[in-house]
Amino acid sequence: MKTYRLAIVPGDGIGHEIIPAALTVLEAAAKKFNFKLVYTFYDWGAGRYLREGAFMPEDGLDTLKGFDAVFFGAVGLTAVDDTLPAKLYTFKVRTAFQQYVNYRPVKLFKGLESPLRNKTSQEIDFVVIRENNEGEFVQSGAFFRPESPEGLATDTSIFTRKGIERVAHFAFSLARKRRKKVTNVTKSNTLIHSLKYWDAVISEVGEQYKDVTLEKMYIDNASANFILHPEYFDVILTTNLFGDILSDLGGGIMGSLGLGGSGNINPEKEFPSMFEPIHGSAPDIAGKGIANPVGTIWSGALLLEHLGETAAAGDIVGAIEAVFQQGIKTVDLGGTARTEEFAEQVIQALNQ
Ligand code: ATP
Ligand code: MG
Repeated sequence: MKTYRLAIVPGDGIGHEIIPAALTVLEAAAKKFNFKLVYTFYDWGAGRYLREGAFMPEDGLDTLKGFDAVFFGAVGLTAVDDTLPAKLYTFKVRTAFQQYVNYRPVKLFKGLESPLRNKTSQEIDFVVIRENNEGEFVQSGAFFRPESPEGLATDTSIFTRKGIERVAHFAFSLARKRRKKVTNVTKSNTLIHSLKYWDAVISEVGEQYKDVTLEKMYIDNASANFILHPEYFDVILTTNLFGDILSDLGGGIMGSLGLGGSGNINPEKEFPSMFEPIHGSAPDIAGKGIANPVGTIWSGALLLEHLGETAAAGDIVGAIEAVFQQGIKTVDLGGTARTEEFAEQVIQALNQ
């Protein structure tokens, strides 16, 4: 029997509720599809930071290296101290493990309503591919001299040919399995050095995928089109910063931030990939047992897909949809189901 070793990091806040709920669903899928999951839990996150002064131990990355994948809840301490660099913790894993693809599917589940009036589930079904290792978030070459006479602060973006090419190859290959369209979301009309280069390298890579249509759209226009014409999009290929924003907007048009799943993927599988919901630790609802587990369950499905368990992944997403079609929803979507109850329903649908 195939066995996969997973590192489980629930993190903070609702991470402690949604991760166990999602694991019950993954377990059920493993049973149905005849593979085995072995977990090791790690108590890393902002809670650990408060106790021990660091989000994870010094050898944390080495510890993770031996796993097939990392399943991650949420890290965040906004409720306690919002100046703590909580997000940097995941950023470190993303770069150290060359998880250069951030994969975020956006889809309106049947049985749910989008805040966009009259849009159907056929019309909201696309994937945001965000470059995850460089660009605007490199935190290199920055100046912060507010006390200087001129008052000065800068951030430098870094884009490399290798960095652009590899994420572009991933996006074009993905488009081949979907509706064969890549929309490059850029702002090369004003970021005339870095993003002009980004556009040029993407066009070059696109030459190798003649069967895929490549289009360019500026981020401002793309944001409007997310709301007005989401049906226009298939695969969106964009930079670290723009992808960060667009994927939350994607979560919004799905109906709740609690629905979005994501993968930080190292396609070559040289290092483990990391899967996590798009939302944060939601301190306002933590401990109440009412968090929506769908973003985490869906992230778990993406994890299984990455490991090659494609059928299990597809069935999990189908089961989530079947539950929504029965009218069962968590509180954020206007329903009454609790976190565990919802997961239990997904398992029942999976076993039908
Ligand atoms: P963090 O610093 O961890 O990002 P945050 O305060 O920004 O914390 P988010 O987790 O980003 O909180 O959540 C923003 C809002 O969305 C909160 O009101 C939260 O309750 C809600 N929310 C987020 N995730 C879920 C979920 N899974 N189920 C229900 N509501 C959620
Ligand atoms: Mg947040």
